Amino acid sequence: MDYVLPPQPPVAVPVAGSAALFPVRRVYCVGRNYAEHAKEMGFTGREDPFFFCKPADAVLVVADGETGKMPYPSKTSNLHYEMELVVVLGKGGRDIPVDQANECVWGYALGLDMTRRDLQGEMKKQGRPWEIGKAFDQSAPLGPIHPRSVVGTLEKGAIWLDVNGERKQSSDISQMLWNVPESISYLSGLFELQPGDIIFTGTPEGVGAVRQGDVITGGVEGLGELRVQIA
Ligand code: MN
Repeated sequence: MDYVLPPQPPVAVPVAGSAALFPVRRVYCVGRNYAEHAKEMGFTGREDPFFFCKPADAVLVVADGETGKMPYPSKTSNLHYEMELVVVLGKGGRDIPVDQANECVWGYALGLDMTRRDLQGEMKKQGRPWEIGKAFDQSAPLGPIHPRSVVGTLEKGAIWLDVNGERKQSSDISQMLWNVPESISYLSGLFELQPGDIIFTGTPEGVGAVRQGDVITGGVEGLGELRVQIA
């Protein structure tokens, strides 16, 4: 094929315990998917799930045992962490029934939905899209992918995040308002899902700001630890 520019290689995420790579197609994110986080953002009750996207190349790959280096982004003075369970799909489809949705899940990873909270707030206030708050470069640090065939189907387990060793977020993935199969099912009614799509499933309460030099560590039971320094 005769491209006029060299095409970008796919974003490839290491698979834990293997030399293989998982190619990322789209990055979907579920908004306000834990009740206590919805409350701290000024909302109550169980809304229908809602979604936003980040570009695939916003993923910052953090290899196993490595400390990812995320540059402090431009145009913000309120960069927030959001620790999330990330689900990666090996199969897609349209209108996937809830009871079949886990069959689409190839694996799980630890992810940070990094957010320019000041810009997101400004866009919300003006009724504008969230991209500048959510979809900036390297806004999605992501650890290695753990195959579901190895770790099983995750339905409960601690989710936590520390900044410089101090606990900031602590919950359980069973506290999601819309669990993983429900989120996949709902999303597949809006978009045809494809292998390679990944879904950030939302963050629990306790979000907050980080500064240059801070070290974020976070985890979900069974998936190890993700470590990122704000460079
Ligand atoms: Mn989030």
